[in-house]
Amino acid sequence: MKIDYLDKISGALFGGACGDTLGHPFEGFLREKIYSNFTNFKLFVRENRRLFNTYTDDTQLTLHTAEALIHGGGFDTKFFISEYVKWLDEPPIGPGYGCLTSIRKLKYGLHWEEAASNSGGNGTAMRVAPIGLFYCKDIERLKKFALKSSIITHSHPAASAGAIVIARAVAFLVEKDPRKSFSSEEFFKIIISSISDSKEAIWKEFIDILLKVKENLNIPIEAGLIKFSQIGVKSPYFIEEYLGKAFVHPYTLSTVACAIFLFLNNLGSFEDCIYELATAGGDSDTVGAIGGSLAGAYFGYKNIPSELVKLVKNNKKILQISRELYSRFAEKYSSF
Ligand SMILES: [Mg+2]
Repeated sequence: MKIDYLDKISGALFGGACGDTLGHPFEGFLREKIYSNFTNFKLFVRENRRLFNTYTDDTQLTLHTAEALIHGGGFDTKFFISEYVKWLDEPPIGPGYGCLTSIRKLKYGLHWEEAASNSGGNGTAMRVAPIGLFYCKDIERLKKFALKSSIITHSHPAASAGAIVIARAVAFLVEKDPRKSFSSEEFFKIIISSISDSKEAIWKEFIDILLKVKENLNIPIEAGLIKFSQIGVKSPYFIEEYLGKAFVHPYTLSTVACAIFLFLNNLGSFEDCIYELATAGGDSDTVGAIGGSLAGAYFGYKNIPSELVKLVKNNKKILQISRELYSRFAEKYSSF
């Protein structure tokens, strides 16, 4: 199949924005509470239409990542810093502590090595999809720049491992034909190999977690979410009252594990996938954004129902950014 890269790039950006928009009203809810009100996706969208009025920090920062790649013609630290600093004036919608504190320090001129917070939060995995898209033909640069894009705000190794894995997963899915299935065995092999060359203990721990997700792909959704909602989280950061519940912790390893588990279990259609992601419970908007970017990279823009595209705030601007990112990509990798 000849890949339509513009369709895949637009798909990944809109997929993330849809998941963020649909998950946002349910951030901080238990999955069982969300599910007790809806029996299917159509009802879920219809009944909550008025709540789906915005995306959040996940999409805001993803769009800034795309703009940084567009203006820099690829990764360049100074464009990334200036784009993330611009986000502070938007203003940020539902930001995480790690992003906010580090980017404020960047704004006041601190070098990124001093500004970066030691947060293992999911704030860098949630914004990394454009790096996976732009460098899908150059995996060495993809890994290098996914890492760099993460450490300028989060010095914790969990954040960088999550960012690399999501960027690599996006690049893998861009090349796949959504009319055919792909091997989950190959998917895990590829994403695990992207972080297997490090002595970092947390990267190794993340590989074990990803292997656990792979072994448990056939268990029921609720059971999987209970298993992975707080996986990798260390004391005293557990959310004690939600242990044993489907309530995704905003730690990178647990969020990425849940997003991948849900994505791989719902490959029937974009709608099936986004429904499960946005109703994950806990950090629903970020599970929606990360998993949605995977779903969009796989299914492509043309398989996202127009009704969902219309729900996304600033959809014309997102389409424009998708086109510009595609143009930059095509300039650089013109043989594709
Ligand atoms: Mg958010």
